Amino acid sequence: MPLPTLLGWTAAGRDLIDGAFVFCTDCYAVHRVSRSDRAPLYLSDGTPTIVDDCERFLAVHRDHRLQVLTRSSDAEMISHARWDPMCRVMWDVSDGETDFVVTFGRTDIEGPREYVVTPGRMVLERESVEVDEDALRHTIDEALYPHAAPVHKIDALVQTCLRLLLATPSDELELLDESRDEPNVQLAGLPLSVAEPLREKVRELFSEEEAEGLFAILDHDLRYDIPVVRLIRRYRIEPLD
Ligand SMILES: [Zn+2]
Repeated sequence: MPLPTLLGWTAAGRDLIDGAFVFCTDCYAVHRVSRSDRAPLYLSDGTPTIVDDCERFLAVHRDHRLQVLTRSSDAEMISHARWDPMCRVMWDVSDGETDFVVTFGRTDIEGPREYVVTPGRMVLERESVEVDEDALRHTIDEALYPHAAPVHKIDALVQTCLRLLLATPSDELELLDESRDEPNVQLAGLPLSVAEPLREKVRELFSEEEAEGLFAILDHDLRYDIPVVRLIRRYRIEPLD
């Protein structure tokens, strides 16, 4: 992204790049542009004072080469659960020509977020899909209630579901949310490409009364409300030559 002249860093101009990173290539220092840069701080006696972190950064690096880096992919690695104040985040960023990885987080719980930029890009190192079989089984059992379907039929349905899910390419999974407590774990429901063949399996195995409840969970609960699929991704940084 072309760098606006420093004199052009008006409030409106900065809003346009809200969330981007200003990177000094001389010092390797980084500032993340944020609307809260201009928020007033209150001194202990309650007097408001305007401390503009972005202006301070621009003043310190006035005669240096500055670039605006924006996020350039969806790749993300986090070190802890996102709610944890010590969570460190890693993203791909770019000035449009060169790829960098920015890492940000706190080294001290009381301290500000610190940003580190290194030339390189994030490369998916490991990706795995897991299925919460207990939750799947429990949802199926509840859907069958009050009918008492034979266990071997339930087992056959669960096994078909596992087989179909583990054969599904990860980009076909429909992500619903991220795990609240486990970093780098996305939760997904059953994609249509799995729900549809499972409907066939239900028709084949179960009576009409039993099938009714199972269709409901295949069309709704297991697709949108009960994420039984976990997608885990790990990245590494590939340095630029
Ligand atoms: Zn500098």
